[in-house]
Amino acid sequence: MNAPDILVPQADPGAAYRAHQAEIDAAISRVLASGWYILGQEGAAFEKEYGRWLTEGSAGGAEQHAVGCANGTDAIALILRAMDIGPGSTVATVAHTAVATVAAIEMVGATPLLLDIDPQTYCLDPEELRAVIASPPAGLPPLRAVIPVHIYGHACDLTAILPMCRDAGIRVIEDVAQAHGARLDGQMLGTFGDAAAFSLYPTKNLAALGDAGITATRDEALAKRMGAVRQYGWHRRYISDEVGINTRLDELQAAVLRVRLPKLAAANARRREIAAAYDAALADGPIAAPFRAPGVEHVFHQYVVRVPGREAVMAKLRMQGVATAIHYPVPVHEQGAYAGRVALGPARCAETSRAATEIMSLPVYPEMTDRQVERVCAALRAV
Ligand SMILES: *Cc1c(COP(=O)(O)O)cnc(C)c1O
Repeated sequence: MNAPDILVPQADPGAAYRAHQAEIDAAISRVLASGWYILGQEGAAFEKEYGRWLTEGSAGGAEQHAVGCANGTDAIALILRAMDIGPGSTVATVAHTAVATVAAIEMVGATPLLLDIDPQTYCLDPEELRAVIASPPAGLPPLRAVIPVHIYGHACDLTAILPMCRDAGIRVIEDVAQAHGARLDGQMLGTFGDAAAFSLYPTKNLAALGDAGITATRDEALAKRMGAVRQYGWHRRYISDEVGINTRLDELQAAVLRVRLPKLAAANARRREIAAAYDAALADGPIAAPFRAPGVEHVFHQYVVRVPGREAVMAKLRMQGVATAIHYPVPVHEQGAYAGRVALGPARCAETSRAATEIMSLPVYPEMTDRQVERVCAALRAV
């Protein structure tokens, strides 16, 4: 029997465009007519609006400065460069992430150290971090920074991670590519660490219609430096006072993002509503709903369940027209470019490898219709 048409795709960036098409088209037309296409008024306005949005969610309203760039990978690399973290530095993160996180560390010449995850939250295990701070793995340069990845829209255990890093003089760079607007104890993610990197790739919770990224920090001097490094190290036009790169934000993307930022809270609320419907459909069944740690306001970039023998379940859902995906099928340390070469923590990423064989992401995006949500729920109840 052939699989039926896909009635519920796993993600649908086209639906997100159509939902606000007139407003997005008007923003794009405005940029086209302006004659200015890179690092102009739209980008500056978006950075200001993004900084203000983060400031409202930060501890004590501490002012956040945002610097746009070309994508989320560059956002991480830009922060590392502006912190002078490169060759001769180790940067710890997880193997359970988009390969981008690790690629960014190597882009600046630093050495990645891959730690394991907590199997419930899929986020960096703070106890392994504590162990490598106390007893650094032999043969690695000094540990200068940690990149906790708020994977799937769930916060890392920053309450444990931040104090141990502060005490050890290690910088914390949050990877918020999957968690725009998520909170921990009421505070917005991306405002906890020394700096934060956000991808604005078309399927993220806040999405451009192409590549885009943004960084944020409380540290005004660091923001200023990132603003220069992203454009050849120019502190003055055409004059490189330091070595930089080219990772600029397009005006077209900035204008689209300005339309979408004010709608993000509602979009995240819709994701949570869909998650609650899935929770109910899974209740009393063999598949557990995703864990939420206390104090975490999840934004469900992905709704991920663990299913031993997932291929059969994915096939059954597919027969009901429901598409699923795996984020990610092969952990970074098992991929050809990294395997046998990249440094691992003492846990050898064992929980990461186990999770990768069992995880499965259900469809979740704000434009899903109630009928589509109900179709997924019915398919889940039938498994
Ligand atoms: C998407 C993503 C990135 C990279 O973003 P790009 O915009 O694709 O470069 C980095 N980290 C995580 C966790 C991501 O999901």
